[in-house]
Amino acid sequence: MRQLSAPIFDIQRFSIHDGPGIRTLVFFKGCNLHCAWCQNPESQDVEPLVAFYADRCNGSFDCLKACPQDAINRDGFRINHTKCDNCLACVEACSRSALRPIGEHMSPEHLFATLVADLPYYRSSGGGVTFSGGEPTLYPKFIDQMLDLCNDEGIHTAMETCGTYSPDRWAPILKKLDLVYFDLKIIDREQHKAATGRDNSQILANARLLVETGIPVEFRLPLVEGYTDDRENLQDTADFLKALNQNRLHLLSYHNMGETKIDIINGSQNKLGLKTYDATRFAQIREWFTERNIEICDE
Ligand code: SF4
Ligand code: SF4
Repeated sequence: MRQLSAPIFDIQRFSIHDGPGIRTLVFFKGCNLHCAWCQNPESQDVEPLVAFYADRCNGSFDCLKACPQDAINRDGFRINHTKCDNCLACVEACSRSALRPIGEHMSPEHLFATLVADLPYYRSSGGGVTFSGGEPTLYPKFIDQMLDLCNDEGIHTAMETCGTYSPDRWAPILKKLDLVYFDLKIIDREQHKAATGRDNSQILANARLLVETGIPVEFRLPLVEGYTDDRENLQDTADFLKALNQNRLHLLSYHNMGETKIDIINGSQNKLGLKTYDATRFAQIREWFTERNIEICDE
């Protein structure tokens, strides 16, 4: 029988964001939305891959000699991802660290062993573990098992989701979480589809269900100029929250660091050319929600 595993592309320890106390953030690879403004383009595909940092490359082509799959290009982007089987021989061979793996399949036991190293910090700060991505709900069995392991140790657990999961599959798993961060990006169905590649009916239905079932949930709105911050979407978001009797919202500022990551994976995502979200506009939006009795939570 194949061992249970999930692709994980980053683990950030000692975070004081994304939940109470000191936390470890676990980033799962793979997402079922493709937001135009995605700040982690390297997380979108499920499969691990090798990234290429052209500015570090000295042209030695030690990677080419090491590659058993003839997957090293001499010109342009170094890796031919269609031939590459992710053996990582080129990563080992490259003395300049110009090639780096993104994503590693881990078992729940392996991941848990990494997390429990910080158990004293979780205990002393009331912290814990936050599952993020990509989209962690792509891995229900894995998360379910991780939650059992964490709950047995009394570790606080949170999950960040774009809300695209099957409600039936996830109903018993969500009950094991201490907190869910749920993204509301665009309330208008057509605009949501145009910007993320997917209709939001399931997302909004899942948001309603979470509230109805009493699972602790915090809603979040990423502020992206020209995509999510028009007056209509702000009003729709406020109305949606009010209809659910929710009066808290986290605002997330867009930053453009993801655009440089498009180059290291040779990704197809278009560069929007947006600047980091304007602080004045952010403050105005914060005030706008506050005037409507929606508390804006600090990130
Ligand atoms: S081994 Fe590293 S530095 Fe040399 S050509 Fe390959 S990527 Fe560039
Ligand atoms: S990961 Fe392996 S197959 Fe892929 S380019 Fe590097 S050496 Fe070749």
